[in-house]
Amino acid sequence: MTLQPIPKTMRALMKPTAAPGMEMREVPVPHIGATDVLVAVDTASVCGTDLHIFHWDEWAQARIKPPYIPGHEFCGTVAAVGNLVQGVSVGDFVSAEMHVACGHCLQCRSGQAHVCQFVKILGVDADGAFANYVRIPASNIWKLDPAIPRDFGSLFDPFGNAVHTVLSGPIAGQTVAVTGCGPIGLFSIAVARACGAARIFAIEPNATRRDLAKQLGADVLLNPSNANLEQQVMDATHGNGVDVLLEMSGHPSAIRQGFRLLRMGGRASLLGIPSRPVELDLANALIFKGATVHGINGRKMYETWYQAEALIRDRGVDLSPVITHRLPLDRFDEAMHLLENGEASKILLTVRQ
Ligand code: NAD
Ligand code: ZN
Repeated sequence: MTLQPIPKTMRALMKPTAAPGMEMREVPVPHIGATDVLVAVDTASVCGTDLHIFHWDEWAQARIKPPYIPGHEFCGTVAAVGNLVQGVSVGDFVSAEMHVACGHCLQCRSGQAHVCQFVKILGVDADGAFANYVRIPASNIWKLDPAIPRDFGSLFDPFGNAVHTVLSGPIAGQTVAVTGCGPIGLFSIAVARACGAARIFAIEPNATRRDLAKQLGADVLLNPSNANLEQQVMDATHGNGVDVLLEMSGHPSAIRQGFRLLRMGGRASLLGIPSRPVELDLANALIFKGATVHGINGRKMYETWYQAEALIRDRGVDLSPVITHRLPLDRFDEAMHLLENGEASKILLTVRQ
């Protein structure tokens, strides 16, 4: 079933070859199978992963198989549904979980599909949403509640990362250190605030991002290059250290500092991805401390999505301060540069024609 005639070709931002850069191309609109949905993309946002793919760094060279269409944060309107699709209709305004779990492995069969052994990520391992249309398995579609501001639709993926991390342990009444205030760290501050965190310490070298952290509800803003940082946090927590560490940078020094700030018996939830192995004093950082450590991967399917929706719709969590730029899709070069210079936080690319 379709609403409007779907063209044969579309504009797409492609990773055309195994080399730096991306290019706008005219390509065929994807065909959908019986259990797929075709979405006319409205907005796509840019993630740090897209920057790795753009620059063709070591990680990208090992993982990405060009030619393909990147982009995994998006929202749009359903343009067509396959014959066997139920519960999703043409005209629905949707986003999607782009981690497509296999459905058969031990994890998928025991409620841990977010760590599926055979996950394929649309926009990384297969065509994504930097295009007028994207094909999504119907089971991965997330219908956006009309009460959710439309601008937030493409942000459910990174916002969900934050929700998953913050809610992986107790948060109400807790003192919290957030190391790294990129978009996901910033979202974490908003979630921790909405869920009743007692005091939030935001640790971030970039002054603009520290200002954003304040807007999202951080109580204390700290620059990691400040030699007194650890003493300040200790003083402010009566010499205990923080109850919760949310590691959102992936930087080795932030990880080590975060663990030094964590109180005995505290909880550390690590989302940031280091680019290489990190040396950590396990005995003092973790073992003697009796710390609980969570590795956080993606979003729980689909518990995190329900929580994310409720936090925005019912608790008024406002993502708008994190949206610093809006550009048309074909100005992707500018978007990538703004992101790498640390000038931007979330950039929304307008895709709809
Ligand atoms: P980002 O790169 O925009 O943010 C990282 C922030 O850390 C930056 O603002 C940077 O200035 C700051 N930083 C650098 N050194 C620091 C230090 N010593 N102390 C404190 N902060 C420091 O990234 P993002 O998009 O917000 O994502 C956050 C992290 O999460 C990244 O490492 C990303 O790769 C990772 N990530 C993980 C998952 C997952 O499923 N585990 C999913 C998405 C992203
Ligand atoms: Zn699986």
